[in-house]
Amino acid sequence: MRTRDKCPLCEAPAARAEHCVRTRNGYELHECPSCTLVYDKEILEEDELLTIYDEAYARRYEEEALARQNRSYADRFFSRKPRGRVLEVGCGTGHFLRRLGEFGFETYGVEVNPACAAYASDLRVVVAPFEEMPQVWPEGWFDYVVTFHLLEHLAEPVAAVQKAAAFLKPDGVWFNYMPHVRARGRRLQSPAWIHFNPAHRGEHVNFFDEPTLRLLAEKAGLEVYRVEAGGDDFWSEARLRRAPNQPK
Ligand SMILES: [Zn+2]
Repeated sequence: MRTRDKCPLCEAPAARAEHCVRTRNGYELHECPSCTLVYDKEILEEDELLTIYDEAYARRYEEEALARQNRSYADRFFSRKPRGRVLEVGCGTGHFLRRLGEFGFETYGVEVNPACAAYASDLRVVVAPFEEMPQVWPEGWFDYVVTFHLLEHLAEPVAAVQKAAAFLKPDGVWFNYMPHVRARGRRLQSPAWIHFNPAHRGEHVNFFDEPTLRLLAEKAGLEVYRVEAGGDDFWSEARLRRAPNQPK
């Protein structure tokens, strides 16, 4: 384990004790006094993460209910979008990408968990942490970059979204889906909220809401043009900001 002593979003010094939330599982989460991001200071090293993201984790994604849910999200969010080239960062066992492929999208993925990626061997998936991924695809090459239940897991979410943004074409879209820390469910149930209490400490380490999402996008040169919330989660779309003198 290592400690993040600064907010992973705005880099303000880690919150003082009065800004803590203690989860049902006994994890202490901090709310940044500057940007309001909720985060776990203690995060796992890469080798420790791979003990969580293992074969058992992959098998859970192959359970029919979760597989069906992932396919239904693909239907809901992408069935009516213009077809194009999609990169999903953290593509798991590939249900979302496979469905997009059926719709006619050209699909690519990155996945840190080799056991998950093994289930997606029919797809074009690079097995690596996104942060350290070799440059196999050109920057500015994708119509869509999808991060689906990803950013709550990452030690450095800003760097990840900056990297995602670099892969977008000038008019490409970053589609993101993640837990909403000010969701009605969280307000009613905190500290027992489901996303505060994953199976292992270190799985969920950042908790965003709409303002912190917008700040995150801004740090990556992206502009959020759509946000919708539902249940415990919210989803958004963003495009690269254009410099004022840059033609459309
Ligand atoms: Zn902050």
